Amino acid sequence: MKQLDEINAEIRSHLKDIGYEKWSRAYMTNNRFSPMTSNIVELVNSITKAMKGCPIEPLLESLRYLLQEWFVKHINDARATFTILATKQEKKLRKNSLESKKMKVSTSSSILYQVNDGCASYLVNMGERTCTYNHFQVDKIPCAHALAVIAKIKEDSYSYCSVFYTTNMYIQTYSASIFSLRDHNEWNVPDEVRARIILAPNPKKKSRQPKEKRIPSKGEKT
Ligand SMILES: [Zn+2]
Repeated sequence: MKQLDEINAEIRSHLKDIGYEKWSRAYMTNNRFSPMTSNIVELVNSITKAMKGCPIEPLLESLRYLLQEWFVKHINDARATFTILATKQEKKLRKNSLESKKMKVSTSSSILYQVNDGCASYLVNMGERTCTYNHFQVDKIPCAHALAVIAKIKEDSYSYCSVFYTTNMYIQTYSASIFSLRDHNEWNVPDEVRARIILAPNPKKKSRQPKEKRIPSKGEKT
C-alpha cells in the first residue's frame, strides 16, 4: 500500500471503496487466481483463431493434439520430480521454513499459538489451519508462522499442505490419454444423437458475433 501511495495518494481510498475482497487474494470469499487460474484460455484461443473457417472436426483434432502435448509435457515433468511436493510449492515451503527460524512461538492453547516475527504477532490455529496473516488458509501451504509452530510441536510440515500440490497428485492428474477422433465410420454414435436434425442457422436473423478477444480482468496485463 505504501508503494501505491507513492504512485498516487488517492489510490488507497479508491481501493478501500471498491472493497478488499475484489482485488486482494487474502480477502476473497472464494479461491481465485494464482494456482486456481492459468493461461489456458489464451492458448486455446490462439488455436481456435488459427483454425477459424475450418470444419469442426480438424478444429477438435487440433485441440485434442494440443491437450495431449500438454499432458505429456506435464507428466514427464512430474515423473522427473523427486520431492514430495511439486517444484514450485516445494520451493515455497523451503522459503517459508527459512523465514520461520527467526520466529518465536508461545502457546495459547493446544491448537492456538501466538507467533512473533520480530515486528508483529500472529495467531496460528493448527486445527483450522489458519493464521491471522492469512497466507496459510489462502495458499494451503504452511506459512512461516505455521512452520515455526510445526517445528515446536515436532509435526510433519507436509501433512499441512494441500494434497493437490503433491507430486503424486500431479502424476495422477496428467496420466490420462486423450484419444484421437479417428475416422467417421468408426464412431459409435448413439441412435438418439444420430436422429437429431440440425438446421442451418437462419440467415435473416443477425446474430451478434462473439468477441474474439477476452476482456482482461482489471489490472491484468494484455
Ligand atoms: Zn502466517
